[in-house]
Amino acid sequence: MDYFQFIKKILDHTSESMIIIDNQSVVQYVNPPFLKMIGLTQNQVIGNSLEDFCSNECDKSFFMKISDDLQKLDLWQGTIEFATPVNQTKKHASIILNLELEKEEPPLHLVLFPFQNKVESENFDDLTGLPRVEIFLDRVDQAIIANRRDKSNIAMFLINLDRFALIKDGLGRGYGDKVLKKISSRLKDSFRQSDTISRIAGHTFGLLIKVTQETHSAIVAEKVMQILSKPITIDNQKIVLTASIGIATCSDENEQKADNIMGFAESAMHHVKEKGGKMYHFFTIDLNKTARKRIEIENDLRNAIEKEEFSLFYQPKVDIITNKIWGVEALIRWNHPKHGMVLPFKFIPVAEETGLIIDIGRWVLNKACRQNSKWQKQKLKPLSVAVNVSPRQFQYPGFYEDVKNAIEQSGLNPGLLELEITESLLMSDVEESVNKLKKLIGVGLSMAIDDFGTGYSNLKYLLNFPISTLKIDRTFIKNVETDGSIAALTHSIIRMAKSLDLKIVAEGVENINQVSFLRDHGCNIVQGDYYSKPLPAEEFGELLKKGKILK
Ligand code: C2E
Ligand code: MG
Ligand code: MG
Repeated sequence: MDYFQFIKKILDHTSESMIIIDNQSVVQYVNPPFLKMIGLTQNQVIGNSLEDFCSNECDKSFFMKISDDLQKLDLWQGTIEFATPVNQTKKHASIILNLELEKEEPPLHLVLFPFQNKVESENFDDLTGLPRVEIFLDRVDQAIIANRRDKSNIAMFLINLDRFALIKDGLGRGYGDKVLKKISSRLKDSFRQSDTISRIAGHTFGLLIKVTQETHSAIVAEKVMQILSKPITIDNQKIVLTASIGIATCSDENEQKADNIMGFAESAMHHVKEKGGKMYHFFTIDLNKTARKRIEIENDLRNAIEKEEFSLFYQPKVDIITNKIWGVEALIRWNHPKHGMVLPFKFIPVAEETGLIIDIGRWVLNKACRQNSKWQKQKLKPLSVAVNVSPRQFQYPGFYEDVKNAIEQSGLNPGLLELEITESLLMSDVEESVNKLKKLIGVGLSMAIDDFGTGYSNLKYLLNFPISTLKIDRTFIKNVETDGSIAALTHSIIRMAKSLDLKIVAEGVENINQVSFLRDHGCNIVQGDYYSKPLPAEEFGELLKKGKILK
């Protein structure tokens, strides 16, 4: 065996990518890891110039320079940028050495691509084996360029699993990991090689597809929902998942970059989350109709306080063991001169976006404290009134003063005021939130987490915050009788809340079966239409006089 054959035999069995080229950069030998790295076959590579597989950056003069260096130093180090189907254009660190086999032969060079294995694991997620977000964004950018040429469109999907933090909390991290693996392989099996699926972060997956027809994206979204909704059984525990899917499309008219498109898909995904998940939503640049309606609400909202169009309704929280009224939540209503009674979901988001929520929220605080104080003066049963606080209101620097004023001016015992905030509000700046909460609690009031289970956080995370009550979101209660996995999650929330010494309130209780379930699982305070819908102050006062709601 000659020396060349001998070397080839060794290289055939090394795990690093290596090739041998001659002094004209013509490939004489390739090893299997190299072929894997660039995604070509031996026949496609051997006998051709290395330049043919490289990007324009690595042209003839680039290789001439390498040749020069090798003559002088016996060694060249740098990066070579390949342009192949698998690599698209990708830079690889490389080292080139002179191989002095036999003096009379034309000189041969060994080209090594070290750390390929390492790069692999950096680019791909350990748990699922899917490409990471950087690769995903890179492929999106490549697709945009390619599609500009053939005038087609792409669609990016961000798929966020609903209630995943709770699954991990309730069933363990290990279980959560198995779920993620299962979902990844289902997604991989269901899409074409040319589509890209990625694990973007945590329990969010990305999907990139080429769109040839307008209806295509919606069909794919339905398909993803279907893939996810097939029950998963792991370790004898069956669960059914849902997802919030945000979709952004990109045509060649609006020049976009991967980052922007991801931002659009993300905002569409958050939109779905806000609506309770289990849906998909397209980001649309043309929000004309919605925008017009919004402006109308915004204009009317500006004068609503002065015109005294707001009122508060009160909904009792009831102890299901004694049927006694345990507390009350104040809920705003807008009596619009043209549209009649407008519910909060129509105008609170607009008030939040425009900042009008600060004035409106101040009005609610004052009104609720004065009303409760009035009930106390009538010698009715002391009870805590809960006021909803929106994120923008909470972040507003004057919020603490507003709360203090409302308490002082109404003369209400601060122990009879509770503020309801959502978990997402706490996520933005943990340290600041904790400080704010401590200051508020210092006044003597208590804090509750509203709509628990709809956000991203888990219970243990909430331990960071000085809160005393947890309100389980009504979407849980709604499905607690029919959906075993929801029932299990609800049970685990109740159990954990208790172990953390939190009071727990179930929202949206509508029937006796839900009451029984909650009683059986140790949640005794409920709020919902089953006991009473939200009532005007007068009517609630009458109810409070009785003190009990008999069923
Ligand atoms: P929330 O704080 O979770 O309030 C509970 C909502 O559930 C209320 O809707 C209530 O009417 C409704 N609800 C209660 N029991 C049942 C039931 O058995 N079945 C069903 N389907 N629904 C039930 P509402 O009054 O429309 O308020 C919606 C949301 O608007 C509130 O959710 C709260 O986030 C927000 N909101 C209400 N008032 C205010 C306020 O003064 N300030 C702020 N910032 N937000 C408010
Ligand atoms: Mg509330
Ligand atoms: Mg709620």
